[in-house]
Amino acid sequence: MTLKETYVIDTTQSKNATLRPIALENIRLTDTFWEPRRAKNRTVTLHSQYDKLEESKCMDNFRRASGRKTGIDFVGWYFADSDLYKWIEAVSASLATHPDPDLEARLEAGIDELAAAQQPDGYLNTYFMFEREKDRWTDLHVLHEIYCAGHLFQAAVMHYRATGKTQLLTVAERLADHINTRFGPEGKRGACGHPEAELALVELFRATRNETYLTLAERMIEARGQEPTAVYGSGNNKRYLQDHVPYKDLKEVTGHAVRMLYLAAGAADVTLEKDAPELRQAQDAQWENFTERRMYVTGGAGARHEGESFGADYELPSDRAYAETCAAVASVMWNQRLLLQTGDAKYADLIEHTLYNAVLPGISLSGTEYFYVNPLENDGTHRRQAWFGCACCPPNIARLLAQLPSYVASIDDEKTVWIHQFIAGEIETEQGVITVETNYPWEGAVAFTNKGTTTMHLKVRVPAWTQHAWVDHTPSGYNAVTLEPGEATRFDFPVTPLCISAHPYVSSLAGSVAVVRGPLVYCMEAVDNAEGDIRDYFLASDLLFTEESVRGLEGVVALKTKGFRYLTHPSHWLYQNTLHNGERPSLETQALTLVPYFAWANREAGRMQIWMRVS
Ligand SMILES: [Zn+2]
Repeated sequence: MTLKETYVIDTTQSKNATLRPIALENIRLTDTFWEPRRAKNRTVTLHSQYDKLEESKCMDNFRRASGRKTGIDFVGWYFADSDLYKWIEAVSASLATHPDPDLEARLEAGIDELAAAQQPDGYLNTYFMFEREKDRWTDLHVLHEIYCAGHLFQAAVMHYRATGKTQLLTVAERLADHINTRFGPEGKRGACGHPEAELALVELFRATRNETYLTLAERMIEARGQEPTAVYGSGNNKRYLQDHVPYKDLKEVTGHAVRMLYLAAGAADVTLEKDAPELRQAQDAQWENFTERRMYVTGGAGARHEGESFGADYELPSDRAYAETCAAVASVMWNQRLLLQTGDAKYADLIEHTLYNAVLPGISLSGTEYFYVNPLENDGTHRRQAWFGCACCPPNIARLLAQLPSYVASIDDEKTVWIHQFIAGEIETEQGVITVETNYPWEGAVAFTNKGTTTMHLKVRVPAWTQHAWVDHTPSGYNAVTLEPGEATRFDFPVTPLCISAHPYVSSLAGSVAVVRGPLVYCMEAVDNAEGDIRDYFLASDLLFTEESVRGLEGVVALKTKGFRYLTHPSHWLYQNTLHNGERPSLETQALTLVPYFAWANREAGRMQIWMRVS
């Protein structure tokens, strides 16, 4: 039997990997939660995104660079090329599991346009053409030149693996070789203000086995934090783009959140391939800082709009949260690399939590509108958009949805299949087929059946949330299971609603709780709680919940509970003496309805909040 091998992160030969990938084609999802979203991704999102690439003139930028269109100007951000590259990566991954001639035709047309724009010396970036040709490689700090190349490398590797075609891979190799002549061992020290190429170069190495690309990735990581700066150009905000200290000394997550997390993912890729203990130790410190002091309860990353950046420890405002969708995608990518390296369930736990609560809110249930910023509390004015002037997030979600099977399971050198994420379907390895049956995340029962003819060994993640924690602080881990042919086993993870409180140093959350059920974070939306202003609502301290369905969110488990709301609301004071008993608001009991946070803002606009006070 020959299995197809479209890998997303190909650790099959990685020196320091505990886990090896299972190809996209061999994890066939059939569940009723993710697979309908993936189907929408294929049939709606990816087509509508290509239309947006035309409307935003991203495609015309390539036609201008190739000379196929003349008399037009470059349109959009200087990193607009990366929109097409992420879309190509998404479509390629999608074709690996679901062939689609129409989508493939659009894909190949897009590749033809970009290949035609490549210059004779391998250079490719449509912003730096004609009058801007003289500016190439002069402003690594701001202008994202290497970043765009990185997204091309990822797209090319995915396209090559999914289709077997080499045209785009050759384009990528020529560009990577061009960059290597500038910034490789024979060139000057240089790194991009927006990390991304580091992880992409490692994957290009994995696809081609050309060590040049691995060395270049390592050089770009080690170039940061040096004097004079390798991230040279027109800016000087070093912390913003993680150039203020060498990576090995970076013991916190700081600066621009997406850059930080892509850089960490790149460093994780290097440590999968090479022994680099200082890079490895820095990762552990960054992960600890992120999960213990700088991460939202959703898994979201980035507390500040200013600089799209991480805040200080415990600086996690709900209403002004930035929590860019791309940062959540980057966190998933980073944690997957750490998981493949270590086999430590805490990374799979965080991937699960981030997928459901920080990535998924970024796309509408219709599959055509997106959040860039993901507040945890809002007055109802924040709504998903069809596209953005800076369109990084939409294709980032699309590629993650297309690559979702790669996060479900992997395999170790003893041929044990590790189950990381619970999504119904079947997993095929050389040992045979395992079926997974579950109605996760709504129910916690997960059954595995060995459909093969040989004994199969599994390791099944026990989610951290089953032990009343959703990151590392209580032991979760993997349960070993051996299944003879035809044999089945079943786990029942209790999806009882729980309340989460925040560390007391998160000052804005004092006295508040967030409700979670299984892997899902819940929120209160005005549309389900229309009697008053939801800021007047309190949860009752007994915290008893019943499960309900709500109008407009079919198939979603909502939670109903008893609470209170202010009946009369003194309005003529902002502050009052706490000893003054003369004017207290009166309360009445109030039924409260909560829905999963990922589903918010899909119905009538109105207030939403995750954190709620308890009476
Ligand atoms: Zn983004």
